[in-house]
Amino acid sequence: MSVFEHHEFDGHEQVVFCHDADSGLKAIIAVHNTNRGPALGGCRMWPYASDAEALTDALRLSRGMTYKSALAGLAMGGGKSVIIGDPRKDKSEALFRAMGRFVASLGGRYTIAEDVGISVADVDLMGEETQYVGGATKGGVGDPSPATAYGVFMGMKAAAAHKLGRDSLRGLRVAVQGVGHVGYYLCRYLAEEGANLIVADIAQDSLDRAVKEFGAEVVAPEAITAAEAEIFAPCALGAVINDETLPLLQAKIVAGSANNQLAEARHGEALRQRGILYAPDYVLNAGGIIIISHEGPGYDEAKAFAHVAEIRDTLAEIFRRADAAGLATSEAADRLAEERFRRTAAKARPDRSAAA
Ligand code: NAD
Repeated sequence: MSVFEHHEFDGHEQVVFCHDADSGLKAIIAVHNTNRGPALGGCRMWPYASDAEALTDALRLSRGMTYKSALAGLAMGGGKSVIIGDPRKDKSEALFRAMGRFVASLGGRYTIAEDVGISVADVDLMGEETQYVGGATKGGVGDPSPATAYGVFMGMKAAAAHKLGRDSLRGLRVAVQGVGHVGYYLCRYLAEEGANLIVADIAQDSLDRAVKEFGAEVVAPEAITAAEAEIFAPCALGAVINDETLPLLQAKIVAGSANNQLAEARHGEALRQRGILYAPDYVLNAGGIIIISHEGPGYDEAKAFAHVAEIRDTLAEIFRRADAAGLATSEAADRLAEERFRRTAAKARPDRSAAA
């Protein structure tokens, strides 16, 4: 398994393999790019079938964070970590303390936060060992999901304005795949706006809550991509836009929080060809990382959420650029991000930076 020859290797600055015999921790931290500032990115805990699979995820996800931070206007770079293990069975205090010490050993080049399989409580434990944690209870904003949902909601508005010529989502049908942390808060914003919700989830309690609180219509998980709706909002899994689902999509807009929604890069162009406006996932779901970047003693929630709302303007610019150049929106977003992080020659700073 070569790192430098790996198909997901993209000039990553640093890849750290972490092992702690006492706790059984096996993890990988990948720092992709720190041109704009120290790397920030969540930690994913997953029962990877092999180390190779974990490495692939760490390389791919950390690169994505560089693009995300650049388009979110943060003075931060991209990094990500993965813990190899089952989040339902393998968590322990010792494991997260060990992970926290590995993060500390990087001296601020990488700040860790929540991702799939990692809770605020886990981040709190890591925060006992290092100051370089985001989204912790102590001195942090806690669960970033409400901010992520707010960013998705604002991004949806940009998409509706561009594609449907309307500023409000009132009366539109939005099909939400996954009503977990982000999906739930997104439904709340949408319901307040007067949108009609169609939801799917594999967890019955999450569905029940969406029905009870928002009057959502429920469809089976396998039916949500083909739901009759103007907007499809993937808020569960990656790779949901693929060769099988593409022909089924009824929506005119795809806009949701899930990471890596396109199974392959070419699916961005395939959406464009079908006349479906895609709001690139990493632009839309940056709300959590944006408020984490505002954490600190002078944290101002209104200011942080106003920064999240800028996702709307960033997306509008991406849509305009994509149209002007005849490009997929995913490609236009990547190009704009690359302009921003390649141009910045600032040296990495060991301290946590405030948002730009
Ligand atoms: P979550 O685990 O709380 O919610 C995901 C939901 O999807 C769960 O309710 C789960 O039961 C459901 N689900 C799983 N498989 C499904 C299927 N096949 N069909 C329908 N529903 C299914 O996770 P979350 O924090 O809400 O994050 C959702 C997505 O957004 C993830 O891809 C995550 O990486 C991404 N994201 C989250 C944040 C954040 O702030 N939480 C930030 C950026 C990106």
